[in-house]
Amino acid sequence: MNLDKKTGNIAVVGSTGSVGRQTLEVLSHLGLRPAALAANSDAAGLERQCRLYKPDTAALFDEAAARDLKVRLADTEIKVLAGADGVNETAASADTVVNSASGIAGLAPTMAAVKNGRLLALANKESLITAGGLVMQTAAETGSEIRPVDSEHNAIWQCLEADNPPSKLILTCSGGPFFGYKKEHLENITAEDALRHPTWSMGAKISIDSATLMNKGFEVIEAAYLFSMPADKIEVVVHRQSIVHSMVEFSDGSVKAQLSCPDMRLCIMYALSYPRRADGEGFIEQLDFKKAMNLDFSPPDTSVFRLLPLAGDAMRRGGVIPTVLNGANERAVELFLEGRISFRGITDSVEAVTTSFENYPADSLKAVYAADLEARKKIDEYFKL
Ligand code: MG
Repeated sequence: MNLDKKTGNIAVVGSTGSVGRQTLEVLSHLGLRPAALAANSDAAGLERQCRLYKPDTAALFDEAAARDLKVRLADTEIKVLAGADGVNETAASADTVVNSASGIAGLAPTMAAVKNGRLLALANKESLITAGGLVMQTAAETGSEIRPVDSEHNAIWQCLEADNPPSKLILTCSGGPFFGYKKEHLENITAEDALRHPTWSMGAKISIDSATLMNKGFEVIEAAYLFSMPADKIEVVVHRQSIVHSMVEFSDGSVKAQLSCPDMRLCIMYALSYPRRADGEGFIEQLDFKKAMNLDFSPPDTSVFRLLPLAGDAMRRGGVIPTVLNGANERAVELFLEGRISFRGITDSVEAVTTSFENYPADSLKAVYAADLEARKKIDEYFKL
């Protein structure tokens, strides 16, 4: 298909992860070749992608892995870049950047893209959680356009087309694998239990965040930045089927929703083909209304899943508190996946560290990275590691 000229050269950052791999499927479906691929440390995975998709440039954040990739691709013309600078260069020099990196590691490529006025299809929500003010301000200065790939925000964006400003945003939430659980049920949960998401297949970090509802909390912050809405005008509703991806309410009481089978590739495709819709037949599964279907909605249990309201509080406190929330959570999830703390320990420690943190302004990337580091340290102190 003919994409908007602006789309131009495309770089995929985080190409070996779940959303990155789906982005490459979408590019193939649209008949597009990525100009650059960047990933964290998976040299073998990136080599395979390079041979299949033939980019001009490949970059790995991990320097040793980049040296390995260079040897692996010695028989090709592909230029191999190394380290944070190498990854950032792929984001700075492409016309369009799909950023699907995981965690605060995605912030630097996001800044590289917006500083250079690029079109940014953003799947890395942590860019906005940790430094939303800086990212949005820089994008406004350079004219960089940010298109949301996160399914809820992508849905809201689709609902907002050609309409009045909304009075409320309603984010849907699958409820995660522990929907309906009470506090006492959360004691003996293993990483394996928590990685089993009912409707979406995703990477490990975001699957754990979905199980604690931290992910939904982050998405409230993400929506506040993307759509300039105060956190108290953003509601979360549990919707087990993951068919309605989010909703928008208007002042006359009308609610618009976007529905589809749960498939991130639709979100990625819309972010790349906007303002048009690409043909998804035979690629994206379609809803079948000839079969009976139920759509349920219920409020989340915030007394059990306390990280959800904690995110709204963090947004209201502002400054580096959202950054601290993110850093504390990234570290706690890491410890849980390593089997060193319990599932409940994630919520308890993140809540304790975030609520007791002494706030300061998030007015530079230096301040953001310092808060991130301090939050991680405080989690280790909490567990006496
Ligand atoms: Mg989402």
